[in-house]
Amino acid sequence: MSTVNLSTITKSFGSVTAVNDLDLLIEEGEFFTFLGPSGCGKTTTLRMIAGFYYPTKGKVKFNEKDMTTVPPEKRNTGMVFQNYALFPHMTVFENVAFGLKVRKISKTETKKRVGDVLRKVRLDQYIDRQVSQLSGGQQQRVALARALVIEPDILLLDEPLSNLDARLRDEMRTEILRLQREYGITTIYVTHDQVEALTMSDRIAVFNFGVCQQVGTPTEIYNKPVNDFVAEFIGETTLLPITYEKTFGEKLIFHSDGLGDSIHVSNTELNIAAHEENDDLIMSIRPEAIQIDSNHGENNVFNGYVSLVQFTGASVHTYIKINEDITIRATDLNRGPSTYFKEGTEVSVYLPEDQIRVIPKARE
Ligand code: ATP
Repeated sequence: MSTVNLSTITKSFGSVTAVNDLDLLIEEGEFFTFLGPSGCGKTTTLRMIAGFYYPTKGKVKFNEKDMTTVPPEKRNTGMVFQNYALFPHMTVFENVAFGLKVRKISKTETKKRVGDVLRKVRLDQYIDRQVSQLSGGQQQRVALARALVIEPDILLLDEPLSNLDARLRDEMRTEILRLQREYGITTIYVTHDQVEALTMSDRIAVFNFGVCQQVGTPTEIYNKPVNDFVAEFIGETTLLPITYEKTFGEKLIFHSDGLGDSIHVSNTELNIAAHEENDDLIMSIRPEAIQIDSNHGENNVFNGYVSLVQFTGASVHTYIKINEDITIRATDLNRGPSTYFKEGTEVSVYLPEDQIRVIPKARE
């Protein structure tokens, strides 16, 4: 097991800066996720940790050891690629044993280790099958077994579930987590899927344009996004530009041009800091915090009509059109089917002041 310490690493490809001045410390045994849209630098960062790329600037350390320019085969990392990169005409055994053969491990030891790891990924009965005769999910398990069999200090997973259908993805999420906990191995996971990131990670780093926007636990990232990019990328939210007006007792009062009214917000430390340090401000509120037709006085209440209702099974999404430019989505997790609002119904929405986060606009 190992920590991974990236200090001010930058990677440029000609005029493109794929990763810009990144500092990160990944703890021993942690399940750490790089999350962000396509092209934001996640894979490039992972490849610098694996040794496939060397940084243009900065250092990569495992524990205290400088690994910046150590070649991949000397790093003891196990990697799972998006397309698995298996040898299709070799058997499961041959694929998994490959890394041990390269390391000149004896035949007896190889047999034992391959058998053990295939039992762990529940594929021992397929040991002699050709990989091309396995399903996508089974191939994914072979790729995992191949990465784990070398007993790596760090496991690197690059969008490992993106080729699987939704049900199998869900199953493999649980499977990967179980293995990670069992092996207790430092794991770095690359994905653009926020649900994967939230459900699997101890901590998440959210990337955009080669820059790490925020590092935190799933609940920190979801509940306390540092800017509008993170708030929007990590879940549904209503984002509206606001300007600071005044502080009034326990409240901060802002103005929303879009709503044509003032917005009352709790004067939490984070909200105060956001408005004191930034000019370009946004309010963010999650759909599950929004209340429809509740009786909460006059502040933060806006009238509109229900423009769309979506039943998802576990919840109901209600879209309320306030004016030409603003539609607010409310998600009710407890509403039974008999209490849906009908499309076209006039309703009021209430935005609870303690549920509104004031955040700066992300810089590009
Ligand atoms: P994806 O999810 O699509 O794989 P990503 O977040 O992993 O995206 P990277 O693959 O790290 O993003 O790419 C970051 C940026 O660096 C992109 O603009 C990409 O075009 C560029 N880039 C990556 N690899 C190279 C390369 N070998 N040569 C030139 N540019 C590259």
